[in-house]
Amino acid sequence: MRTNNSTVMVTGGAGFLGSHLCDRLIARGHDVLCVDNFFTGTKRNIEHLVGNPRFELMRHDVTFPLYVEVGQIYNLACPASPVHYQFDPVQTTKTSVHGAINMLGLAKRVKARILQASTSEVYGDPEEHPQPESYWGRVNPIGIRACYDEGKRCAETLFFDYYRQFDLDIKVVRIFNTYGPRMHPNDGRVVSNFIVQALRNEDITLYGDGQQSRSFCYVDDLVDGMVRMMDTPAGTTGPVNLGNPQEFTMRELAETIVRLTGSKSRLSFHPLPQDDPRQRQPDITLARSMLDWSPGVRLEDGLRETIAYFRSTLNA
Ligand code: NAD
Ligand code: UDP
Repeated sequence: MRTNNSTVMVTGGAGFLGSHLCDRLIARGHDVLCVDNFFTGTKRNIEHLVGNPRFELMRHDVTFPLYVEVGQIYNLACPASPVHYQFDPVQTTKTSVHGAINMLGLAKRVKARILQASTSEVYGDPEEHPQPESYWGRVNPIGIRACYDEGKRCAETLFFDYYRQFDLDIKVVRIFNTYGPRMHPNDGRVVSNFIVQALRNEDITLYGDGQQSRSFCYVDDLVDGMVRMMDTPAGTTGPVNLGNPQEFTMRELAETIVRLTGSKSRLSFHPLPQDDPRQRQPDITLARSMLDWSPGVRLEDGLRETIAYFRSTLNA
């Protein structure tokens, strides 16, 4: 495949969300260029696409410049789980900040539309609940999550400066906790941890008292929201929250996963990690009105799909 200005590029395309996005774009008839350095992504996530004449895979680190001809860019490259982004925090900030500069520079040169996968972490440990896009956040700039949170905040700043300064066609989505098949089994995120532990009948590790809450969006819903945002007219920049507003405590999540897997696991309590947000829930009023989008997959249904995936990979 030779890239041209109708090609859609996905950075981080071999990761969890990126690989599902590549699937969706191929299904919509696009030519897709998947760019990844395989830090957390795997070839296995996209192996079913290799050989498709409309799919191309490029090993590349976005902290270095990239010269290709593309019409749209989804910028997802960045480790997303605390275990992975804290493994090499300097590289995490570089990926967000230098990566954004390089991808924005590319978009400027080839006049491509570019969408940034930002995060609910820009809200930090929020005082406003649920979080609307107008909330500026409460992030500890020197804590252990800062390499990710501040990196993503700076990337948003860069996107909006390229928009104001160079009239670049930008889009920013703030993604809330998303789960589904192809999550990394060792990424330490709560859904993958609990499912793997339950399938192995090991203790379920609840951090803190398990009363902290999160809102979980199934990957198919999330990808649908991202593509809808990319399809909005120029000038519709966001930021827009994408997530499922249904909120659950970690204890409720653990109990649901134990029930759905028929596991013998018991709950065990461990210290809460530093700067762990107490609660998080997206206000998706804007996504509903602007994108006519809201998530449709119920937690139990999404968990069943995810459990089936982990069952097959752990047995493989
Ligand atoms: P992931 O770790 O599975 O995917 C990230 C991908 O980026 C991996 O394939 C990794 O190898 C690649 N990557 C990392 N550094 C790179 C670099 N320097 N150059 C090129 N590729 C690089 O994580 P994910 O859950 O799929 O997240 C994708 C994006 O969505 C991330 O930007 C993340 O911040 C954002 N996001 C995800 C969630 C979520 O709940 N999954 C929530 C908020 C935001
Ligand atoms: N968590 C937990 N046990 C685990 C992994 C995570 O209780 O084995 C908790 C964690 O402390 C946090 C919540 O689950 O309160 C979500 O954690 P995750 O790392 O998945 O996402 P984030 O904190 O980035 O929202």
